Amino acid sequence: MTDQKLTPRLEIRNLTRSFDGTQVVRGVSLKVMPGQVTCLLGPSGCGKSTTLRMIAGVEMQDSGEIYVDGSLICDTKFRIPPERRSIGLMFQDFALFPHMSVADNVAFGLKGAKEEKRARVEELLKRVDMLRHIDNYPHELSGGEQQRIALARALAPKPRIMLMDEPFSGLDNRLRDDIRDQTLAVLKDEDAAVLLVTHEPEEAMRMADEIALMRDGVIVQQGAPYNIYNNPVDKAATAFFSDIN
Ligand code: ADP
Ligand code: MG
Repeated sequence: MTDQKLTPRLEIRNLTRSFDGTQVVRGVSLKVMPGQVTCLLGPSGCGKSTTLRMIAGVEMQDSGEIYVDGSLICDTKFRIPPERRSIGLMFQDFALFPHMSVADNVAFGLKGAKEEKRARVEELLKRVDMLRHIDNYPHELSGGEQQRIALARALAPKPRIMLMDEPFSGLDNRLRDDIRDQTLAVLKDEDAAVLLVTHEPEEAMRMADEIALMRDGVIVQQGAPYNIYNNPVDKAATAFFSDIN
């Protein structure tokens, strides 16, 4: 009997990448299970964004493999292009198209009949509580509102996996917790497995089902948030978590 739940939605094996002779990702392996949020957590410069960019297909790995739902999508000889990977992207600086309305921004990655696209756009805008802004333009919206539109846009084509690179770091503290919670609820509804990159332990503790702690291009510890928090692998990990209050 095959159990869908046991096949990782996303799996990477031994990814490596060098820039100018320095290896910045040094053999990273990771699984993201269906229905789960996995956080790649680590200090600035440890190789998180490079790892995410290789999974997205906008950066090529030097070695290693990437699988979606158990199928190979990329190794050093074979490569499915980014738009066919069923991966949604949300980056801090991944801005909305300023000259397009909210409706057109969300519909951007959608194919099919006009009415179907409109229905999907309305469904998502309702879900992120932004339907009343369907005819607005990005500059008419607050940072938090733009962020919710970006979430709707990324989810519109029903990606199997959502890659998020520090998506909340541009938001003000007051808003951030609400948007994190709302984002999680929408992602679960839409059945997207999530790989979230952050350098903030607090964000990982709040959002993750699983944390992969990264340092200097390798994953040094992986597990449930409270296991990692309560049993850090070494002094550096202890120090890294110590500023959570
Ligand atoms: P993080 O997201 O964890 O902050 P990055 O993956 O962005 O880390 O970067 C890891 C290291 O790789 C850094 O030292 C960074 O300067 C370097 N790096 C990233 N992208 C490039 C690039 N395109 N060219 C040269 N060096 C890069
Ligand atoms: Mg980064």
